[in-house]
Amino acid sequence: METQDKRIWLTFDDGPSPQVTPWILSVLKKENVKATFFLLGQQIEEFPKLTDAIVKDGHTIANHSYSHKNGWLTNKGKYLEDIESCQELMPNNKLFRPPYGKITKSQIAVLKKKYKIILWDVLSYDFQQNTSAERVQENIIKNTKAGSIIVLHNNTMSFKNIYPILAKTIQQLKKEGYSFSATW
Ligand SMILES: [Zn+2]
Repeated sequence: METQDKRIWLTFDDGPSPQVTPWILSVLKKENVKATFFLLGQQIEEFPKLTDAIVKDGHTIANHSYSHKNGWLTNKGKYLEDIESCQELMPNNKLFRPPYGKITKSQIAVLKKKYKIILWDVLSYDFQQNTSAERVQENIIKNTKAGSIIVLHNNTMSFKNIYPILAKTIQQLKKEGYSFSATW
């Protein structure tokens, strides 16, 4: 993102998840940091109270589709329908992040009329099962610069890789002079 100061955007994909979301919220609250949650429609329907909790804490919620389809492997009609099914659950939202970052030019052409499509520049690789929490922390610290959009995950698969380092990483970034935004 374009920014004059050392602002960065922390984002959490997938979820909400009862095993992970309350914990993420507690860390963010303790660190007094706002983030953006790219949620899945099917998870919102299953866990509406968790979605409410994210909003109540002042974070931004955004569209990550209903069922996490891969845009490269899904025909345009089905893909757009899946995004609209999520959007019905957050009618005021203007942001979309494609699952896996995989989206075709023709899908983008339609979606950009309605949404700001948000990708990222700092991938934490928290989803990699053979990585370590320390590596995830290093990926974030080394690659973050003013305007960075950092991707972490709000799911059980990534939990073991963010649990030991999320608070520490936020503290380190603060120490380096970064501030956190959830406004787009
Ligand atoms: Zn995702």
